[in-house]
Amino acid sequence: MIIEFPGTKGEIEESSSSHKYHSSLIVKEKTTTVLIDFGVKYNPRLIREINDFNYLLITHAHPDHYIWTVEEENRINIPVYLTIETLNYGKYKPGNYRVIKSGIEYILNDFRVRAFDVIHSLRCPAVAYKIKGSRTIVYAPDILDFKDDKEMVLGDVDLLIADGSSLNINMVRRSGDKLFGHTRVVTIAGWCKKYGVKELIITHCGKQIVTMDENELKEKLKEYAEGKINIRVAHDDRVIEL
Ligand SMILES: [Zn+2]
Ligand SMILES: [Zn+2]
Repeated sequence: MIIEFPGTKGEIEESSSSHKYHSSLIVKEKTTTVLIDFGVKYNPRLIREINDFNYLLITHAHPDHYIWTVEEENRINIPVYLTIETLNYGKYKPGNYRVIKSGIEYILNDFRVRAFDVIHSLRCPAVAYKIKGSRTIVYAPDILDFKDDKEMVLGDVDLLIADGSSLNINMVRRSGDKLFGHTRVVTIAGWCKKYGVKELIITHCGKQIVTMDENELKEKLKEYAEGKINIRVAHDDRVIEL
């Protein structure tokens, strides 16, 4: 399985040469290539290559993940998988959309794909994707927490790719009794240690990671890993063979 990060930036104004484009992920195996998320500030190569992908999966309707929330985009003809909530939220719609339900496994050629509901936004309900091929990965670019039991979601996972909005600053918000926002990398590292996920890659980087000194960042990640897991920060256009 090969993964690539066309973009690794969250919904922030700041950017750097390593984090220029809105977060998305390419997953390849045998003859199947899946792209997850297509935000407003997409890597320009994506639109050139878009019809080479077999599928586009969308996590939620925030514009850094789903361009159709705010813009018409009719050059994308591949099937776009999304929840009914995401489809209904957007001002525009992809030409070739397929509505999926969380908790159900879909066979997409060489992959088995399942969406899991996550706590993140009240108005734009989000999902994380579990993709099973020769390896099992979970992509959760915007997450405060999983709604499901984490043992069930993460118990058999080789690699978690997750939200870098904050390393250790509280970004949890509250509306009545409902929480929303983003969890912290230090918390995600704790999930990996607890549920036996050996590899963690951070994407959807927020201001803290994008503006932090690289050595200071390395030290922080080392501290969170406690020698038990491997934590890396993804950069735009990075390719990783699993
Ligand atoms: Zn986002
Ligand atoms: Zn979001």
